[in-house]
Amino acid sequence: MNDCIVCRIAAGCIPSRKVYEDDLVLAFLDISPVSPGHVLVVPKEHFNPLWNVPDEVLARLLSVAKRIAKAQMDSALAPDGVNLFQTNGTAAGQTVFHVHFHVIPRKNGDGAGWTFPEGAYASPEEADATAAAIAAALEKA
Ligand code: 5GP
Ligand code: ZN
Repeated sequence: MNDCIVCRIAAGCIPSRKVYEDDLVLAFLDISPVSPGHVLVVPKEHFNPLWNVPDEVLARLLSVAKRIAKAQMDSALAPDGVNLFQTNGTAAGQTVFHVHFHVIPRKNGDGAGWTFPEGAYASPEEADATAAAIAAALEKA
């Protein structure tokens, strides 16, 4: 067993409050939730970051995340909305290095969230060049 905390949870070596499990994925409550009902959806197999996850596994992760979001909405939690959130790298806020999707129930005015700083591009031309750079990289991917 490696020292990855999610692998240990998936193996049952560390307890978790499980809400869903199938052959490929597991979902359980986050230990330090943004809001009540905050769930993590993880592949049972260790993958990191997102772009190393096989498409079949990713499809299942997203399908389960969708179902959990709907279940949160239909549950007694009765949130006003749900965030799907995923981190890759410390710069992006990742602290657990086994791919996971956060499914976070949200209430109007709950104060959670993150800010989008203004002025990410110096000019419209810079935004154009950025779109072209990503498109060019996609051609090679
Ligand atoms: P990240 O910042 O990497 O996207 O999110 C990692 C999440 O894993 C955090 O929200 C954190 O609370 C959660 N977490 C870390 N350790 C454990 C644990 O042992 N059990 C559970 N259930 N959640 C954990
Ligand atoms: Zn792992």
